Formats: sequence, structure tokens, C-alpha cells
Amino acid sequence: MNTNLKNRFFLLAFAVVLALLPVLPTPEFWITLGNYIGLYSIVAIGLVLLTGVGGMTSFGQAAFVGLGAYSTAYLTTQFGLSPWLGLLVGLVITMASAYVIGLITMRMSGHYLPLATIAWGLSLFFLFGNLEFLGKYDGLNGIPVLHVLGIELASGRSMFYLIWAVVLVSVIAMQNLLNSRPGRAIRALKGGGTMAEAMGVNTAWMKVVIFVVAAMLACISGFLYAHLQRAVNPTPFGLNYGIEYLFMAVVGGVGHVWGAVLGAGILTILKDVLQGVLPKLLGANGNFETIVFGVLMVLLLQYARDGLWPFIKKLFPSGPPVMAPAQASALPLRAKPQAGELILDVKAARKEFGGLVAVNDVSFQVRAGEIIGLIGPNGAGKSTTFNLVTGVLPATRGEVLYRGEQISGLPSREIVKRGIGRTFQHVHLLPTMTVLENVAIGAHLRGDFAPQGGVTAAILRMNKNEEAKLLHEAARQLERVGLADCMYMEAGSLALGQQRILEIARALCCDPALLLLDEPAAGLRYKEKQALAELLKKLKGEGMSVLLVEHDMDFVMNLTDRLVVMEFGTRIAEGVPEDVQKDPAVLEAYLGGVE
Ligand code: ADP
Ligand code: MG
Repeated sequence: MNTNLKNRFFLLAFAVVLALLPVLPTPEFWITLGNYIGLYSIVAIGLVLLTGVGGMTSFGQAAFVGLGAYSTAYLTTQFGLSPWLGLLVGLVITMASAYVIGLITMRMSGHYLPLATIAWGLSLFFLFGNLEFLGKYDGLNGIPVLHVLGIELASGRSMFYLIWAVVLVSVIAMQNLLNSRPGRAIRALKGGGTMAEAMGVNTAWMKVVIFVVAAMLACISGFLYAHLQRAVNPTPFGLNYGIEYLFMAVVGGVGHVWGAVLGAGILTILKDVLQGVLPKLLGANGNFETIVFGVLMVLLLQYARDGLWPFIKKLFPSGPPVMAPAQASALPLRAKPQAGELILDVKAARKEFGGLVAVNDVSFQVRAGEIIGLIGPNGAGKSTTFNLVTGVLPATRGEVLYRGEQISGLPSREIVKRGIGRTFQHVHLLPTMTVLENVAIGAHLRGDFAPQGGVTAAILRMNKNEEAKLLHEAARQLERVGLADCMYMEAGSLALGQQRILEIARALCCDPALLLLDEPAAGLRYKEKQALAELLKKLKGEGMSVLLVEHDMDFVMNLTDRLVVMEFGTRIAEGVPEDVQKDPAVLEAYLGGVE
């Protein structure tokens, strides 16, 4: 249940103020400014999703605004078609081009993506300016007024309603999306995506999806702009506008949907004021506001990385977090292996990093219902072995078979789909998201919709059933690991040991047959270590197989069925803990030959 009453009240109050503005004797100038803030907000909301949440920077949004504006302008003025058909065609063109550009650019890393969006923004601007049928740099005039429900939106005041209705709908749509299974997957993109992939998310595809969604919002803004202005030319779709949209999202707070509206408001008003004041002050004409914006940006990045919205947000009491329902139908479980079945077979796995052999032809097996410890000193290659099994790293040579199937070479998301859940030595979680929502990411592949789909359903809030089931499952796993008390806390506020337990709950949400835990006991106090050992024994009792990396010999001694010992990438011993403990090679490795 996500009944965030206070937020709804705030939304209602905001809507009432907006509704009153055009009927009160508000000066025309303010209405115009309000219209522009609304139009910019719609674009900036898309950027919050793309840049703030997804971590991808785009300077090319203005070009998508242009696609929306020119599509309707061309079809309505040249062919007398309905503006709504213009909108539809604009959306289709935008979707198709964003999809293609997304496929090409979203796989790019680092600075290539922003550069690619700059190239895209520039080329579309010049295209608009050079095409004969789009009126070259003069553009197209005589765009008809919009009619909504038989009402003619000829004035700025009447357009104000439509524009701001679209803003509010976009805000709600984005909030709906972010509070959903695909939304949590999108939120997990930040920080490299290794964790998201390990939970079954196709991160490259999710990036394309948010690129397309952001582009479509920009297109809608362009459509509204064209019918407000009744004329279009290439100028407002150039690269400097693309930069300004990004400014707005960053100033407002790129991680928050409302930050987009705040940023659009502040920058639009500031620009207007500065354009009036600066030339008078300096005694010369020019776009001096750009300089002020630049300075503002630098200050902001220094002192308020998250933008201004967090400061505003503090003024409002925060609503209750996303809650797990008390009741929900259980998620289906995968068929589990019989006790004793060979579940994992690592055959001479090898990983070289340049000249370093991190994993040197290591072989071992895990049978269903066993707890196997992978131990060895720091740098022995234990985590790298985990990464070979879970597909985070490609093996240089060797094979990994899971339940008889070759899994080496598969991406992580395919491996988790088959039933291998994992945790990370260096915890990978979303610190500002609640413990419950973090754990729910583990159930990404168990929703009602196709694993990488469900975006439209989420936006339309048609995913209530799925949400109830997934959140209920997350709560159940939190109870299982003993973290139920912390369910609604921010994950980042937990102690490190608890964060590791959170990762176990998240891995359990994948409904695994094999659990890979990388140093789960690190950072735990003695009591907590005991509780963890109890938990692992309980899981084993339920038929779970566990492969456990551990540094601490005492912890694994009474817990594991067998130990595999590694040193310098090589397996130096394997056997039951009592034997391994006495093995001279192991003593040598652990105690450095003392004794
Ligand atoms: P363990 O988990 O047993 O402490 P790791 O598997 O993390 O050991 O590391 C094994 C060796 O491989 C170490 O020498 C480490 O520095 C090296 N190593 C691990 N990951 C990488 C990487 N991505 N690139 C280069 N060297 C790496
Ligand atoms: Mg390690």
C-alpha cells in the first residue's frame, strides 16, 4: 500500500493553486512564464529518470522536443491533419529514433554517451534548419490551436491548464514507474549495474527503455510548445537548449521527480530576470545569463550535488515508506534438485588478468544440500572464482556446469535465472532506498510481466498485484534472515554486518537452489556470526546448497561439509574441515609456516 497521504495533500494543494492562477487576474506575463516552466518541466522530468536515476547524461533532449514540435507542425500546416494525429506521429518517430539511438549509445560508457547525445542534438538542429519542407531556418507558421473536449485552447491561459495537467500526469507517471519492479531495476543501474545484472536485470535494455521514455516526454513537450506558439523554427531545439534542460534537472535535484519542476521554475525565472537586469547593469547586449548559469552550476556541483529539491523536501514531513502487504499470494517456486545431486561442477576454471593468474585451473563440485567453504588468504582468487561462476567475469579457460548445463559464457542475468543467487564481498545496495525495496530487487525475475517489461503497466499502476506479491516475498525473506525489524529503514543506515544479511535476503528472493555468499561474516560481531551460522544451517536443512567464501577458519569449521582451500589462485587442498585443518599446505598458507 503506497498511500502517501501527505504527499497527496501537497499534490492537491499544488493543483488547486495552478487551477486558480489563470482565472485570477494574474498578469499575462506570469501565465506565459508559467507555461514555459511547465513545458520545460516535462522535459526535465524525463532527464530526472535518465540522468538522475539512471545515471546517464543527455545533452540531446531538445532535439526530441523538436521532433515533437515539427511533426505536428508539418502535418497540421501542410496536410491539414488533426494535431492529435501529429502528436501520434511525433511519438512514433521519437520512439523509433530514440530506440535506435539508444541501442547504439546506451552501451557506451563514460564520456562517449554525452558526446553522442551532443552529436545527435547538433545534427537534428541542422537538419531542421536545412530541410526545404520544414521551412529551413524560418520554420513553419500557422499551426492550428488545440481543441480538448470541444474547448478551444486559443489563449495562453487555456493552454496553461493543458500544459500543467501534462506536468502533473508526468510526475505521477514517473513516481509510479520508480515505485515498481522495473523502476527498482532502473534505480539499480547506478553504480555500474553488476548487482542489477546479478539479480536478472538486462541493464542495457533498461537503459534503452528510460532513454525512450525520456525522449517521449520531450516529444510531448514539443507538441504542446508548437500549439502554444503556433509557429516553430529550429532555434529552441538547438544544443544550448539541450544544455539548459540538463541544467534544470541538475539544479532542481536530478534524483527527484519534483526537482525537475523546481529546477525548471528557478532557471526560467532566473533567466528572465537576468536577461532584463544584466545588459542594463553591464551596459551591453548579450546572453550574459549563460555565464551566471555556468557559475551557478559549478557552485551547485561543489555544495549541493543533489540539487535544491532535498532542501525543499525537508520542509515537508516525509510520508510512510512503501509497505509490504500483510497478505499476498505466494510466488511460484522453481523445481529444486534432489539432495546429493551434483549441482555445481567447476572444471579447471582459469582467469588471467594480464600476466596475473588469479584463478589457476581450479576444480571443485557442490552437491545439493551441501555447504561448501571456499577459503584462503586475501588475494587467493576466491572472489574471482565467484565471478567466474556467476558470469560477472568471463573465464580465460575452463568450464562451469550448473545442474549439468554449461553456464560459462552466459551473462549474470541468465545464470541467476537458472537458480544461482549471490551476495557481494563489497556490498552493492541502494543506500537511500528502504531495506524492503532493496531486497525486492532480488525478485526481479519473478514478477507477473516479462522480466524486462512491465514498464507501461507500472506507469498506469496496473501492477498492484505484482507489487503486493514481490514486496510480500521481500518481507518474508527479511523475516527469514532476521532483519524484519529493519524493513522500513534506509539500507544505508544499517551496520555493515546487517547490510551483508540484507544481501542474503535479496539473494534468497531470487528463489535460488545455490547460494554464493562472499564473506558474509565479515564485519559481524560474535553473536551475529552465530546467528548467521544458524541461518545457513536452517537453509541447508531446507535443501539449499551454499558456496561460502570465508576468511575466518573458525566460522567455517563447524558449519561446512567440505572446504576448498585456495592460495595464489591455486587449489591447494580439499576435504572435510577436520582434515583440511591439519593439512600442512593449508597451515603453511594460513600461518605462513610458523609452527
Ligand atoms: P580473494 O577474494 O581471494 O581475496 P580476489 O579474487 O579478489 O581474491 O583476487 C585475486 C587476485 O586477482 C588478486 O591478486 C587481485 O588483485 C587480482 N584481481 C582481482 N580482480 C581483478 C581485476 N578486475 N583486475 C586485475 N586484477 C584483479
Ligand atoms: Mg574476495
